Amino acid sequence: MTGLLGPAEIRALAARLGVSPTKKLGQNFVHDPNTVRRIVTAAGLTSEDVVLEVGPGLGSLTLGLLEAAAHVHAVEIDAPLAAALPETAAERVPGVADRLTVHHQDALKATAADFDPAPTALVANLPYNVAVPVVLHLLAELPSLRHGLVMVQLEVAERLTAGPGSKIYGIPSVKLAWYASARLAGKVPPNVFWPVPNVDSGLVAFTSREPPRTDVRREAVFAVVDAAFAQRRKTLRAALAGYAGSPPAAELLLRAAGVDPQARGEALTVKEFAAIAAQSGNGRVTR
Ligand code: SAM
Repeated sequence: MTGLLGPAEIRALAARLGVSPTKKLGQNFVHDPNTVRRIVTAAGLTSEDVVLEVGPGLGSLTLGLLEAAAHVHAVEIDAPLAAALPETAAERVPGVADRLTVHHQDALKATAADFDPAPTALVANLPYNVAVPVVLHLLAELPSLRHGLVMVQLEVAERLTAGPGSKIYGIPSVKLAWYASARLAGKVPPNVFWPVPNVDSGLVAFTSREPPRTDVRREAVFAVVDAAFAQRRKTLRAALAGYAGSPPAAELLLRAAGVDPQARGEALTVKEFAAIAAQSGNGRVTR
């Protein structure tokens, strides 16, 4: 990988564009080529992959991705950054700059119709304030995504990849598990960013898979997950009382789904949440 941006290049580019990073948009730019190499390698891209990058910023990661993939869709909400990216690519990686499409838009509003060719991989140093909603939104909108590697706040990476029984297993873990199997693929120290954040970062690698059940709608399963974790210290019999109508109704529902009513949400797999939704009848897919 050549043409990557180091600290001097990042500062010069930001000065030229008149960019000062804002907290509101989660702007912490990577100024360490080794970290970019590490992310691109961990993403396991093939030359056929079409990458979706959310928040390319000044282009640190984009330049590495352009060399590794067939195409890169870069979705950036900040107009000056979006406008400057094609020029940065043309200057730094001229041989592959035509693989880039820049989309000046909010990733939370992106839909499949925005991308041609369809993205097969999500690779991004995400804006930390919206990282979980962005990942879940894109997985819901883009069934073409087969795998991904995202950098997020370490604590969020740990939550996203936690399994049942863990204290940090919760709504993001179960919802991500609906779409994909995920693992923590490494930690990243604060000093690779400008400005330096006050948290560590983590890499989350995921591979898409078929949903655990196809006879129940995702929205119905997520409604059970939301209800179960809204009161995570309560037993499911109590936590799902509102959802089912009453505690005895919740107990019946849980027993019918093969789940212990005295268990807590944090003990259940995504498949068990799906069994509860299927049993409730709310989310049944009718063919
Ligand atoms: N990828 C770059 C890097 O590694 O240096 C920048 C990463 S920075 C953590 C996050 C980027 O996401 C910023 O460029 C920010 O403007 C952009 N961003 C923030 N919210 C966004 C949104 N909702 N949709 C698209 N881009 C967003």
